[in-house]
Amino acid sequence: MTETKSTCPYCGVGCGVIIESAGGQITGVRGDPAHPANFGRLCTKGSTLHLTATAEVTLQTRLLQPMRRVARGMPPTITTWEGALDDVAERFASVIDQHGPDAVGFYVSGQLLTEDYYVFNKLAKGLVGTNNIDTNSRLCMSSAVAGYKKTLGADAPPTCYDDVNHADCLFFGGSNAAWAHPVLFRRIEDAKRARPDMKIIVADPRRTDTAEIADLYLPLRPGTDVMLFNGMLHVMLREGWTNPRFIAEHTRGFEALRERVRDCTPEQAAATCGITLEQLVRAARLFATSRATLSLYCQGLNQSSSGTAKNAALINLHLATGQIGRPGAGPFSLTGQPNAMGGREVGGLANLLSAHRDLANAGHRAEVAALWGVPSVPERPGKTAVEMFQAAADGEIRALWIACTNPAQSMPDQATVRRALDRCEFVVVQEAFSTTATCAFADVLLPATTWGEKIGTVTNSERRISRVRPAVPAPGAARHDWSVVVDVARRLETRLPRRTNDGRSLFPYALDNAAGAEAIWLEHRESTRGRDLDITGLDWAQLDAQGPQQWPMPEGALEGCSRLYEDGIFPTPDGKARFVDAVYAPTAETPDAEHPLWLNTGRLRDQWHGTSRTGTLGRLFGHVPEPALQMHPQDMGKRQLSDGDLVRVSSRRGAIVLPVEGCADLTPGQVFSAMHWGSEIVGGQGPEGAALGGVNALTNNAFCPDSKQPELKHAAVQVAAARLP
Ligand code: SF4
Repeated sequence: MTETKSTCPYCGVGCGVIIESAGGQITGVRGDPAHPANFGRLCTKGSTLHLTATAEVTLQTRLLQPMRRVARGMPPTITTWEGALDDVAERFASVIDQHGPDAVGFYVSGQLLTEDYYVFNKLAKGLVGTNNIDTNSRLCMSSAVAGYKKTLGADAPPTCYDDVNHADCLFFGGSNAAWAHPVLFRRIEDAKRARPDMKIIVADPRRTDTAEIADLYLPLRPGTDVMLFNGMLHVMLREGWTNPRFIAEHTRGFEALRERVRDCTPEQAAATCGITLEQLVRAARLFATSRATLSLYCQGLNQSSSGTAKNAALINLHLATGQIGRPGAGPFSLTGQPNAMGGREVGGLANLLSAHRDLANAGHRAEVAALWGVPSVPERPGKTAVEMFQAAADGEIRALWIACTNPAQSMPDQATVRRALDRCEFVVVQEAFSTTATCAFADVLLPATTWGEKIGTVTNSERRISRVRPAVPAPGAARHDWSVVVDVARRLETRLPRRTNDGRSLFPYALDNAAGAEAIWLEHRESTRGRDLDITGLDWAQLDAQGPQQWPMPEGALEGCSRLYEDGIFPTPDGKARFVDAVYAPTAETPDAEHPLWLNTGRLRDQWHGTSRTGTLGRLFGHVPEPALQMHPQDMGKRQLSDGDLVRVSSRRGAIVLPVEGCADLTPGQVFSAMHWGSEIVGGQGPEGAALGGVNALTNNAFCPDSKQPELKHAAVQVAAARLP
């Protein structure tokens, strides 16, 4: 038996795993006791990873050969890698030649490794000459990115998991960590047991498992987070609980915010949020007066049409009280995916460039062009996720390359997304699994490696870079994502007019082996020199010898940096953090007579994304066996519904049928459904019988103007007993 250290491919906690293998087959998995993210622990998903990689599951679910469709609606047939890659290069080159570089788009994923992300970004921005590259991390983290940049000056969570052990107050905002980040939550439970005086506040429209350990639960009305935070700041100012010295020495912009919150009375804030005045005042007191307050937040803040304002308003509280830059204190956004952070590092979003540079900054564009050795990086803004599929639906984007993600299930407003995929002249899907709904729309399918087979690195929520190592060979003809990109890119280099300054290839990496992946990582490393995430002091040998490290780790550093801003200096031109005048705005859609209920969507403990992997394992359905719509018993009574009745749930964009179940953890007027399932839109039929989108048939693609993150969390719906044929 061989043992290989790697990283769990599910959530952003980024737990270390030890993979056991024999005879080219994964036979077991256990937590890595030496990994600082989990110290040997794994949750139900992580501890069953090996069972999702058996020979039988591989045969049933994996994409094992390149495939091509001669026409949409026809079954795909096996082709060679040469044929598939030539086809992709030819069709992309043809669209670019006829319609320009912005007629193509790349939609990638926080499941990809940093090396995969890096070459995808270089292909789009360096070779093709378009910024139309975005990622499913847009659906998950972009509001946190924008919030950090606006306030602290850089996209860098200043905290670490160890801060849980130093905090006297934990504030959860829109995070059900008990289910979404289980191993971190176990650490929090341990900390609470060891220090019962530590106070936990949970603000969430649903009384989740996370709320079960709360000293103070705030049953927030959907979307009112900014009002809560501004109301808390009003109380802090009134009671003298702010930190004037920290504000004066380390921040700017407080006066405008003070004026803003002057009008936001606690009574008004409490009423808007649907909580009591006592709850609001107690939350403000615990947050401000605890020795160290750590806030943990996730999709409840991010997936919102005012996601950036919500993030900024919470960070305002940390700055106003000086709860930052000390052990146990600071704003800590939890990343959903295993490498959402790595994607941000390499600039794998439409508005970013390598190493936290901004596309809108001419100096940054020139730096990246120099690093890559190309004449320029295009200035034109790229399309973000929702914009990209809208542009494809409108015929503006004609060729799409989708990698390691399933937009035909995960994007909001599925009707538009599916119209886009149908209309696109050429769709490439690069995937490990043949079972995703998006595969049904592909003209070419490119088989990719996945967990247990991949080589590279990922970065977790606390900025910690971990190695991903292969335990077994790739099954069938599957190849590493970065290798596929490089192979197509080289073919495109012979077909496109854009050239490097010296005529050399932009993609000089050895294909399909560890040396190639490491060469890409080293290039990424060099791009970070002098930046806030500088890792020029790190290499793969060190990661092997010392274990996972947190950035920054500049040349000369002996280890990574666990906490940022302990010196009170922020990465802004004058070293001071910025208060943001965060303005409360209701959700893009609010309940009305036609659609009287709030729909909330979220995650289950034992499923992951569209269930490509977790759905292969019966035991992971023991926790929640099937899709359902949760509804408060009062609302069920009004509609004369009983548990298990089928209901038709409809929004302005679509309708689905689900069994209903009573749930008193919701307040009346709200319903909830998990985002993992792909159930059928009533009256709709997907190509090749594909499920039509599940709950995202209903969700709203309105997005935050700053982060462009869509409002997956909030939609107005009506619910009625389903009339079956
Ligand atoms: Fe994997 Fe997240 Fe569970 Fe850790 S907590 S084992 S990273 S799913």
